[in-house]
Amino acid sequence: MSTNKIEFDALVVGGGIAGLQTALDLADQDFKVAIVERDATIGGKMIRLSKVFPTLDCASCITTPKMSAAAHHPNITSFTYCELQSLKKTGGEITALVTQKARFVDEIKCIGCRQCEYNCPVFVSDEEQGGFAARKAIYIPFSNAIPQVALMDVENCTLCGKCAKVCPTNAVDYFQKPESFTLTAKTAVITTGFEFTPVEDKQQYGYGEIPNVINALQMERLLAPHGPYNRVLRPSDGMEPDSIAFIQCAGSRDKSMGVSYCSRVCCMYAIKQAMLLSGAVPMADIAIYYMDIRAFGKGYEQFYQNSKAMGVEFIKGKVATIDPGENGSVKLHYEAQGKDGGVKTAEHDLVILSLGMVAGWNPENVCAVSKGDDAFIKTIQPKIAPTLTDMEGIFVAGVAAGPKDIVDTIVEAGAAAMEASNYLTKRRRKLAA
Ligand SMILES: Cc1cc2nc3c(=O)[nH]c(=O)nc-3n(C[C@H](O)[C@H](O)[C@H](O)COP(=O)(O)OP(=O)(O)OC[C@H]3O[C@@H](n4cnc5c(N)ncnc54)[C@H](O)[C@@H]3O)c2cc1C
Repeated sequence: MSTNKIEFDALVVGGGIAGLQTALDLADQDFKVAIVERDATIGGKMIRLSKVFPTLDCASCITTPKMSAAAHHPNITSFTYCELQSLKKTGGEITALVTQKARFVDEIKCIGCRQCEYNCPVFVSDEEQGGFAARKAIYIPFSNAIPQVALMDVENCTLCGKCAKVCPTNAVDYFQKPESFTLTAKTAVITTGFEFTPVEDKQQYGYGEIPNVINALQMERLLAPHGPYNRVLRPSDGMEPDSIAFIQCAGSRDKSMGVSYCSRVCCMYAIKQAMLLSGAVPMADIAIYYMDIRAFGKGYEQFYQNSKAMGVEFIKGKVATIDPGENGSVKLHYEAQGKDGGVKTAEHDLVILSLGMVAGWNPENVCAVSKGDDAFIKTIQPKIAPTLTDMEGIFVAGVAAGPKDIVDTIVEAGAAAMEASNYLTKRRRKLAA
């Protein structure tokens, strides 16, 4: 990567579905767009999902074409595995200092043949498969990752040299160093998405301690056609679970975790996963422990009703603590509501925590754009112009501005692209006058 200043019309920070849609909409209007993505691949969380509510379309069948369209668009340049160091606006120009992290593989020389990966003797837990499978110490994150460029996990590499020996293009570079470069643009759109609420902090739920307590993204991987086992098995012993439970609001609407807001998508994704599980494990009993169901979008209430008709049980009650039970089972202690209410205990083979969303990026010390009280990027006109931040010419879209589903993310990305396009056009006219 050169250290030269590279000029664009628009900078999109984050290459999830919001960033891809924003970049494509701007690029189709002939603006030159840079996407800066900190991960080794574009695609964000959506490419890691199994199917999506409410249509149950395959997530990668929708996301991969968008990733590919962005990667091949003549007006888009993607900078992956890059960290944004600073984003400043001086006069009408935005300057971003970006660091290309070391992959220890030459991005230009690598042809994605995976010979390095096949010949690497080191197996480590694969975070892309929820930790349920292994990957190598030099690897391409997943089969439809873009770009198809390997990266080395130096912490686990034993420096045996096998990858370098088999690489047909001499792309492996053990001495590669991070490199910084500068991008300039006239406008920027922040699409930095979300991370999960750190549920490890809530010890009552036993996540990380009780092997059959997993999170919702791990369940997405178990349900994905290209998931770790090709079937749904519980992690502790590979048994097909007979009884599965979802715990709602595990990391949302919970002041003890500093997340008092509703993450909006957890009810719907739990219902989706429950429906998919009734197909994948037809004999299993499936229960959702909830406070209230928020089926807020078009067709969502019907989706919820369909899940009940399919036999998914909804138990109104707040789960307080989770303990290990006998033979790998998981014990829930909860306060049931309604006429049979009171403190109760139930046992299940597998438990999924429906985790909430927290902001994926903290702009502090990087960019002067403000955060709201919830730590997501602050929007100054949330009703009539929800993509405006408090810095003129810098816009926001998707979960970067607050929890939302894919439909709302795509709509907002289109709106942000339109705001950015108007801003660029007005600016051009002003300069020409
Ligand atoms: C378990 C689960 C299941 C779900 N299922 C569904 C579903 O079925 N249907 C539905 O409508 N919605 C679903 N959702 C919600 C959906 O995932 C989000 O709406 C969508 O992913 C939001 O996209 P985004 O681009 O805003 O954010 P993200 O997907 O989080 O993408 C943000 C991107 O920005 C990058 N980034 C972050 N910070 C920086 C930085 N500083 N510099 C550079 N890059 C950065 C990240 O690496 C990431 O690639 C689900 C969510 C979860 C957790």
